[in-house]
Amino acid sequence: MNFGVYVHIPYCIQRCRYCDFTTFEQNSIMPPQEYLALLEKEISTRAIQISQQDLTSLYFGGGTPSLLPVNYIQKIINKLGAMGLHITDSTEVTIEINPTTVDQQKIKDYLSLGINRFSVGAQTFSDELLKLCGREHNVHQTRECLDWLAHLTTNFSLDILYGLPKQSFAQLRFDLEAAMSFHPQHISAYCLTLPQGHPMNQNRPKEKIQIDMLECITDSLNAKGLKQYEISNFANPGFESQHNLLYWKDQAYWGIGLSAHSSFPHLPHSQMGLRFWNPKDFKTYIHQVNNPRAQEAFPHEYLDSSQFEKLNIWESLTDFCHISLRLNEGLSKDALRYRFGPEAVNLLEIKFKELLLNKLVQLSSRGWSLTALGRRLSNQVFFSTTFLKEDFPG
Ligand code: SF4
Repeated sequence: MNFGVYVHIPYCIQRCRYCDFTTFEQNSIMPPQEYLALLEKEISTRAIQISQQDLTSLYFGGGTPSLLPVNYIQKIINKLGAMGLHITDSTEVTIEINPTTVDQQKIKDYLSLGINRFSVGAQTFSDELLKLCGREHNVHQTRECLDWLAHLTTNFSLDILYGLPKQSFAQLRFDLEAAMSFHPQHISAYCLTLPQGHPMNQNRPKEKIQIDMLECITDSLNAKGLKQYEISNFANPGFESQHNLLYWKDQAYWGIGLSAHSSFPHLPHSQMGLRFWNPKDFKTYIHQVNNPRAQEAFPHEYLDSSQFEKLNIWESLTDFCHISLRLNEGLSKDALRYRFGPEAVNLLEIKFKELLLNKLVQLSSRGWSLTALGRRLSNQVFFSTTFLKEDFPG
């Protein structure tokens, strides 16, 4: 059974203009040492939820986890180990880092702690666009950080943003060339997502252009050997993100820290899955970590219903379809049958008929996957593979 842990570190040097993550400027909130103590307490109080096992993945995300002193990361790893969640040679251990928060020594220290994968928030190699995004680093600093990584380790990933205001195809191609010049094993390419009315929405490429941009990214990276394995993710063979694959393959994971989500797809008292998430504000989080009920019960037994989701079969099946179809390998009939029974396979066969005719999905040896057209029009596919209570009479 695969199992991963996500640890949320909610500190950043400054808030980027487009960011909607739970993160705060480092000097404006609870000091990191107090937050560390809460994380350690949360790990030990929630022991009832887990069995002792080797971790498939451990992921430090945020925020900017690389703002924390290295020994804080060590303490979290130690605490997980003390609870029976062990890092082995095959555990993928990732830390998100931003340029300007690391130097060569810090990267070496991370490596000696057992961190074996780095995810760098590069975003773009244009100083003008970095500034417009409110990023606190410049291109020179990004390049310096990537140079260190390229010399010290083999496994790092870059985040690239596209669909930025006034961004041209030439700029996007330049970003991809620049990123590839450091020979990363993995690139995540995300389209800028903003709420309506956000000032950064002005002068952005239209939706159709954004879709063309993803196609441009896919073609460029595939040609360089970084294969698309999920709509927004590209990797050299064997370097796909094991942690994200847990999310996309409906596996169990634990989220520790402010706003972190947890998912247990199979539980005796919630067979279609239970998800729960921590609060986004410190006050509620502190209260919750100190709640003695956490030591003896699962969150749905004592938390407010706004903090958990006990899935019905139609919700669970919808999620299963959508996340599986995001992967290039697609949706496996065997996995579908195993998880939801033969009726679900019949239901899907009916839903897929029209999508197959319209060449949005294709048959594969294991089941169904999106075609190139289906990836462009993925919203249409996801709409057609959304299940409702009425699909399961009785
Ligand atoms: S560095 Fe990342 S988490 Fe921090 S503010 Fe910027 S986008 Fe948000």
